[in-house]
Amino acid sequence: MKKNITIIGNGFASLFFIGYFLSLPLFPFFLSFLRRVYSRYQVTVIGNGRFIYFPAIPEFITGKKTKKGITIDIRPYLRRRNIRFIDDQVVDVRDGGRTVLTTQGPFSNDALFIGTGPGFMLDDIPGTREYTFSPCGGPDAMEEFMHRLSGLREGVIYVGFKLNRRDGFVAGRGGQMYECACLLDYALTQKGVRDKFKIHLFSPNIEPGETGAVTDRLLERGIILDYGYEPAEFVEGGMRDVDGSLRRADLILFTPGITAPAWVRGSCLPLSAGEHIDVDRFGQVKGLQRVFAAGDCSSHEAPPPWVPHQAHMAQLRSAAAAKNLRAALRGREPSHTYRFELSCILNMENDALWLHAANDNKPPFWNIFPRHSQKLIAVKNGFERLYLFYLRYL
Ligand SMILES: Cc1cc2nc3c(=O)[nH]c(=O)nc-3n(C[C@H](O)[C@H](O)[C@H](O)COP(=O)(O)OP(=O)(O)OC[C@H]3O[C@@H](n4cnc5c(N)ncnc54)[C@H](O)[C@@H]3O)c2cc1C
Repeated sequence: MKKNITIIGNGFASLFFIGYFLSLPLFPFFLSFLRRVYSRYQVTVIGNGRFIYFPAIPEFITGKKTKKGITIDIRPYLRRRNIRFIDDQVVDVRDGGRTVLTTQGPFSNDALFIGTGPGFMLDDIPGTREYTFSPCGGPDAMEEFMHRLSGLREGVIYVGFKLNRRDGFVAGRGGQMYECACLLDYALTQKGVRDKFKIHLFSPNIEPGETGAVTDRLLERGIILDYGYEPAEFVEGGMRDVDGSLRRADLILFTPGITAPAWVRGSCLPLSAGEHIDVDRFGQVKGLQRVFAAGDCSSHEAPPPWVPHQAHMAQLRSAAAAKNLRAALRGREPSHTYRFELSCILNMENDALWLHAANDNKPPFWNIFPRHSQKLIAVKNGFERLYLFYLRYL
């Protein structure tokens, strides 16, 4: 009897998991027939069928990336791997992980992988839903921001982020918001209207007076630093401070801290202190058998404080989870852990920085790339093209 593996979500974590779990990470079209013959697993993915390459969303600001270019119908990729696709939303996980409930009904499994991505702390600062835009809301939210921006001839734009640090790592989107602020500066300069706009960068999670390469890049661009600042409330026309005063803003691009999605709270999945799905260093959901999670929905065991939620980390975690799940299905103990690494190219269009940290101090790509060079933008675009080509055609 084939083992029934269910995967929730069709984002980075789930697709990396599939790549590592199936025998050949690059599975060319003609081999899909072969896989039907020898596969030991019946794999089912439950999701919306659309993969979004989130790292390209800040580039909507320069017009170089669009919703169409970064959204992929993932069903052909799944068909090529003989994976069953259920177009639905998961609303609950029960029976110690053995039953996944969607709006259509229950699906049972022998093993479960959860890659549902993040939930955002939208109620943390009142008015976040009503008065802010976020690149993390996906292509539609970013397009709406761009639409509003195009209607402004002058104004004040605040770009900010807040992190959830309760699990001891960076559950939020700092780097992406730095990128958005720098790209805004570039786009407005190209339009010849930069002097008509003030751009602020705020976050309660950055110490006032903090220095470093990113701060230098922001200052070079005349971006006003409101490090340490947290509004009491977002309101019509700006932000209200604790003392009741109003900071005027014509547009606010803000991303709140990250937790697991809301539906997880009512499920049998355990929650960490920071309200992520609680997993151990093998990617196993604590206290449950043959249930694994990776990506933005899940916590880490003993993480370094600088590690963020990233597609890159999702890949490292999914690789370990895939090997451990295969071992678990053979009745063995999990033994594969993963490295912690922050690796991200900050694209400023007229410049770029490679932000990097690793728990084993390994440099990115054997240090063959510079850490500070506009040429890194081509490298970042290269990664994107390669990955989207793999999803579209292989
Ligand atoms: C603007 C922006 C820029 C970024 N830049 C970078 C970068 O440069 N480098 C980097 O490494 N990372 C970057 N990231 C972070 C990266 O995109 C995330 O860490 C990554 O997407 C996490 O992968 P995931 O699979 O956990 O979540 P996602 O990619 O969000 O995938 C989650 C999946 O689950 C599905 N899903 C959600 N809820 C349900 C449900 N109830 N039922 C079924 N399916 C569900 C979704 O439809 C989606 O398919 C960026 C993120 C943003 C927003």
